[in-house]
This record gives sequence, structure tokens and C-alpha cells, in this order.
Amino acid sequence: MDVDVVKGIGDKKKDALETFGISSVLDLIETYPRRWVDRTREALVSQLEEGVPTMVVVRVDSSSSFKTKTGRKMVTIRCSDESGKLSLTFFNQNWREKQLSPGLTIAVFGKPERYRGYLQMTNPIVDLIGDRTGRIVSIYPQSEKSRISTWDLAKWIESTLKRCEQRGIADPVPAEVIEQVGLVSRGQALHDIHLPESMDVRHAARRRLAFDEVLRVQVMLVARKLLAAQESRGFTHRTKGPLVGAFNASLPFPLTGAQKRVIDEIVADISDASPMHRLLQGDVGSGKTVVAVSAMMRAVQGGHQSALMAPTEVLADQHAIGIRRLLNGLVIPDDGNLFGGREVRVELLTNKVTGEQRRRVLAGLVDGSVDIVVGTQALIQEKVEFRSLGLVVVDEQHRFGVDQRSKLREKAVGAGDGLTPDVLVMTATPIPRTAAMTVYGDLDVSTLDELPPGRTPIVTEWVNTPVAESAMWQAVRDAIGRGEQAYVVCPLIEESEKLEVASAQTVFDELSGGELSGYSIGLLHGRMPPAEKESTMERFRAGELDALVATTVIEVGVDVPNATQMVILDADRFGIAQLHQLRGRVGRGAIASTCHLCTKTDDPSPRVEALVSSTDGFVLAEEDLKLRGEGTVMGTIQKGRSDLRLASLQTDFDLIQTAREVAVRIVGDDPGLSAHPDLRDEIDLYFTAEQEDNLLKG
Ligand code: ADP
Ligand code: MG
Repeated sequence: MDVDVVKGIGDKKKDALETFGISSVLDLIETYPRRWVDRTREALVSQLEEGVPTMVVVRVDSSSSFKTKTGRKMVTIRCSDESGKLSLTFFNQNWREKQLSPGLTIAVFGKPERYRGYLQMTNPIVDLIGDRTGRIVSIYPQSEKSRISTWDLAKWIESTLKRCEQRGIADPVPAEVIEQVGLVSRGQALHDIHLPESMDVRHAARRRLAFDEVLRVQVMLVARKLLAAQESRGFTHRTKGPLVGAFNASLPFPLTGAQKRVIDEIVADISDASPMHRLLQGDVGSGKTVVAVSAMMRAVQGGHQSALMAPTEVLADQHAIGIRRLLNGLVIPDDGNLFGGREVRVELLTNKVTGEQRRRVLAGLVDGSVDIVVGTQALIQEKVEFRSLGLVVVDEQHRFGVDQRSKLREKAVGAGDGLTPDVLVMTATPIPRTAAMTVYGDLDVSTLDELPPGRTPIVTEWVNTPVAESAMWQAVRDAIGRGEQAYVVCPLIEESEKLEVASAQTVFDELSGGELSGYSIGLLHGRMPPAEKESTMERFRAGELDALVATTVIEVGVDVPNATQMVILDADRFGIAQLHQLRGRVGRGAIASTCHLCTKTDDPSPRVEALVSSTDGFVLAEEDLKLRGEGTVMGTIQKGRSDLRLASLQTDFDLIQTAREVAVRIVGDDPGLSAHPDLRDEIDLYFTAEQEDNLLKG
């Protein structure tokens, strides 16, 4: 139902609301206050005490502005209530002069001081409350551009709620769930969040509405998952056999407990006819590759093929090398199977594989003689034909959203023999549990929470003085002197790859002629021709290069156990996850490693501090969520603004978990939900149709 059924909203206001993302009545009442002003706790101006932060409600009398001697712009607002006068001073907030025009009633919160006999507050918190007199006044987000004021919104929302109060607001959540979770009704919650009688009732209201948000997301994810399972037929892989046996026997190390457990989880999935959609998450160095290869061996065992998709060519190369090394000429035992008696064939297919070699690989994929192909996204995007693609492993660097992932799945179906391949998604970075359940909620999740034994913990040092910096280069030279190797990661320049490359070149030149002169140094960046990139990487792997100056192209997957020194320049430009990945490039062998995080000043850098204080990727992921907030973590799942407004991935873990369980029940009871072609619409309907129906009609 369009918002213009609400009294006072005409065409003009309707358009303005639209730019705000509000088009239906439901959107309107789901626009929640940003803050509440508790007028039962306001003071009179005459009661203000110097130095004690207090709220007063005053009327604006006049405003003026001027530049201070130091060039700062200062706005002064004179206000009063019936008991006295107060002036407000704002620095560098020029817009206040326009915002706080004479006649307005505002709530001001700040620390009163006396200046030349006048009572004043400097940069107080200001809320426009119009002529509202309730005990608690809700403050809504306000947009200068769309000319919708917080009291406009308050008025419309209040009248809407009042109109449907008699009939009540439908509650789509089953009664037993409401009881189980201990929620107030939806009608009560909407009332209490907008028109709270006391500050306390807001908490129960928020909890209820937050639950609805996460439930909606979970119903969508669970339904999507069910739909994928219903609509596709998958492979029933033969998970035991001579090849798998030979592979296990050939492993150069015993598997960790976590690796064994996760392999069991995967085996259970792929031996079942419905396709696997599983996320494998594990910290840097936890040994995801061998888990993935172990799954691939199961596909190959039954005469099917496996594809591994990496986000970049360097990584694809790296994976191909790693897999070949792990398989080490493993022969498929001849057990009467058509493909028996030959080596497992691993091929690389990226854009730089051309000519005759490319034709051979493509032909091998069609006739089934290539067992494992490693490549970039191009593997699936191009028309590459497989004889029988049984398993796809996706090594994700940049997390895909739920939508992108289901597209990938569709493409994968076309690449097989009508059956949907099993899909294993590997994340390079651990993600917080709540985010995993939300962003990857349509996947099952396996976690490698144990590192292989024999690792020497990485020492992380924060380098932020010239003295520390020269000590760092000395440490790097000492390490090279012991036959070890170093990475130097150049400053991240997000705006321009060209600038980034230029800066890498500069760092390379400076080091060659300075701190690292006389050593053999390589340069690696995204704009180099692939062949050159590959040969540089190869020389570093082979130990011909002492140090590698690189951009973040080495972020994920590069595995050179002899590299023990990681120098990251301008470390505060990187995110936590990226720093953790980069750090994970060292400490991959038994030799002690150091990660040096360089920053220019000794300004606080919470991200660098986090890295110094923990090497646990899961701890860092939680920290990252805290520092960056939800928006970035939710990323692509957040279509429009309707997903999570009140719910928090940080604090609502229990709600999210319960919502997941409830969603499984709801979707299970109502399979029609998942059969709908556009799930999202259907789910919105599930939550809104009745709602809308009740609103205003009553
Ligand atoms: P990830 O991709 O999870 O960061 P990798 O799969 O690249 O980790 O493994 C990191 C290193 O640990 C590799 O050199 C690998 O050979 C080694 N490794 C993996 N599993 C084990 C294990 N169970 N015991 C000893 N070393 C292992
Ligand atoms: Mg890896």
C-alpha cells in the first residue's frame, strides 16, 4: 500500500519519501527512530550547573556566525526557555546556522560553561523536536535534501499506528515461537519503538523487531537452500576406493583432527545425491588445500572431473603447483575402470594458456582425460566443456554475495552432464559466526579450527619510528644472511592501480639502492605481463630472489615456507583481514618468522594494534566487525535498505541462531514458499501482505 494513503502525504511528499527509500506504509512504520529524547529528564536553563552534562529544551532566538582569529568558522545560536538564556557555540559546523533558525524548539545536550557571564555549551548534541511534548520524543533520521523533517515522519508514523491500533497489527511469527524466544507482539513492538511510554520498553521492542529482520533473512536463505536441493540432481560420489586409499597413504603428513572432521563432513555431503553447497572456512595456513584435494580425489575416483577456481592467475598457478606437489605423480589404480592405470592429470587453464597447450587442455576436459583443472573464473564463464564435472572448488578472495553464488551454481550445472556438481567454497579469511550465518546462510559451513603442528608463532611488530625502521631492515638483512627470504608489501592505493604500480616501482628502486642494495630483489605487481609475473614468482620460490617487493597480488595463497620476513609498508591503509592474509604468507615453515607493520606516525591505529595483539583469524574477524560495523560485512546481501536495521551481527548472535532454527521450521512447514520463482518477493509477502492489509483498513 503506497504511503500516500497516509493523511498529509501528497504527491510532493510522496516523491520526497521515495528518495528516502520509503514507498509503502510498511516502509514508513519500519523507519525507526535514530534516538529518543527523554523529556522527563530535561532541566530548565536556570537549573543548569557548570560542568554537569545536562539536557534542556529551548527555543532558538537568533543565530550568527563569524571567523575566529585562527580561521575557524564559528556559529553562535542564542536560545532561551522561560527560566533563562543559553548560547550554543559550534565550531566547523557552518550548516548549523541554517539548520537552527529562530523559532525552532530544540533539545540540547551538553556541558554548560560560563563565558563572559553567559551560560553556553560548545558543540552540544542537538535534536529538533518541533512542538512535540510527549514524555519521550522520537528523533527520526532527517534529510535536508528531501525536506522531510523528523517531526513530519513522527507525525505520519504516529497517525498510521493510531489508525491500525484498534484492529491490531498482524503477527506473522507463530505464537509458539513468540513464546519460545520471549518476544513482545509485533504491534506492541512497533508502538513501543515509535511511541515509548518509558525508555525501558524500547529494549523489548527492538529485540522483537530485530528478530523479525533476521528471521526474514534466514527464511530467504533457508528457502533458497531448499529450492536448490529440490530442483537439482547431483552426483553420488564413490568416496572409498583404491585412488582415495593411495592418496591418503601418500600424504606427507598426518592430517589434523580438524582436517579429518571436515573431510568427513564433505564426504557425507558428496556421497549423497543432493548437491553439496558447503563453505570451508579456516584460518590462514590451516591446511584448506589438502581438504579440497581430498574431496577432488573422491570425484576423480568415480571417473568424474574437478575444477578449482581461484580469484587470480597468480593464485591459480600457485594452486596448480600445490596440487601437483601434493599428488606427486599419484597413479589412478587400475581397477577395471576406464581411466585406471595412469597418472592423475592436473592442468592449468587461464588466459595465458594459449595455442596448442590450450587446445590440449580443452580436449582433455571434453574427453575426460583431464581429472583436475585449475583456473580463474574464466573456467566457468567461458564455454568450457567437461565430460563430467563432479566437483567445483571455489577459492574466494572477495566474498561473493548470495546472488552471485547462485548464478555460479547455475553455470556449473551447464558445465556438467545434466547433474549439478558439488560445490565447495573456500574462504581465505575467517568470518564472524553471525556473518557466516547471514552472508553464507545458504551454505553449510565447515570450519578448520586447528593449525597443523610444528608452526612457530609469528612475531608481529609495529614499526613507527625511524629507529625501529632501520632495526627492521637490519632484521631483514640478517634473515637473508641465514638463507631466508623476505616480502615487502607496498602501500595500498585503492584509487588507482597505476599509482600503486608506480609506488611499487619506487619502493623497489629505493630498496635496491638503499637498505637492500647488493641483494637480489624481485618486483611483482598486477600490471606485469603474466609470463613475467610467473617467472618472478618461480625465482622467488626457487630461492634465487632474497626479497620480493610486491603489491597485494601476493595476498592470498602464495606459499613459500622459506620466506620468514614480511614487511608491510603503510600498514594502516590495509584492512584487518588483508593484513592477516598478508601476514599469513610467512610462518609457513618451522623457522621463526616476523611480520613488520610499518606506519608513518605514531597515531593510534586500531587495526595494526589488533594484528599485534592476536594471530587468531577468528578473533581478528570479530574485531574487524566491531571496528567496521555491519554494513561492510553484509556487503552484497544488503539489497536496498530493507535487511538489517535494528539487528546487529555483533550483539544479536542468539537471535540470529534462533531465527535460523525457526526459519528451518517455517520453510519446512510451508514448502510452497520455496517453490515460488521469486523467493524474495514471496518472503516479503509472507511478512508484509497481511500487515499491509491490516494497516489503515481497520
Ligand atoms: P590455507 O590454504 O588454509 O592457508 P594451505 O592449504 O596452503 O593452507 O596449507 C598451508 C601449509 O601447511 C602447506 O604448506 C601445507 O602443505 C601444510 N599442511 C597442511 N596440512 C598439514 C598437516 N596436517 N600437517 C602438516 N602440514 C600441513
Ligand atoms: Mg590456500
